[in-house]
Amino acid sequence: MGRWSKEDKKAIAKANNQTDMLGNYYCKRCGERLSLKNLEVDHKKPKSKGGKDNPANLQLLCPNCNRRKGAKKPRLEERKRDSWVEEVSKDLLGSSSELDEDSKLI
Ligand SMILES: [Zn+2]
Repeated sequence: MGRWSKEDKKAIAKANNQTDMLGNYYCKRCGERLSLKNLEVDHKKPKSKGGKDNPANLQLLCPNCNRRKGAKKPRLEERKRDSWVEEVSKDLLGSSSELDEDSKLI
């Protein structure tokens, strides 16, 4: 994140017609309107498969769609191996949302 400049994102939005007449930007998948800052750059063809870093191969997604896309093709072997890590990080994430309440008590 933060790897792409505003100008990069503008070029990507232009290449994908991700702007409306008012100059708003929106997610390529769900159409949610977001500021450029909050849209994430996604490779249509993953870099691991030879995808290039040019606007034709890139699109802007909202964080939700970007995450969902990543979860679409779980690599089962890795998931199995890392399942305990996921459990642990889930716990950490879960408790971090309760941190605020805890810190109020202190
Ligand atoms: Zn979206």
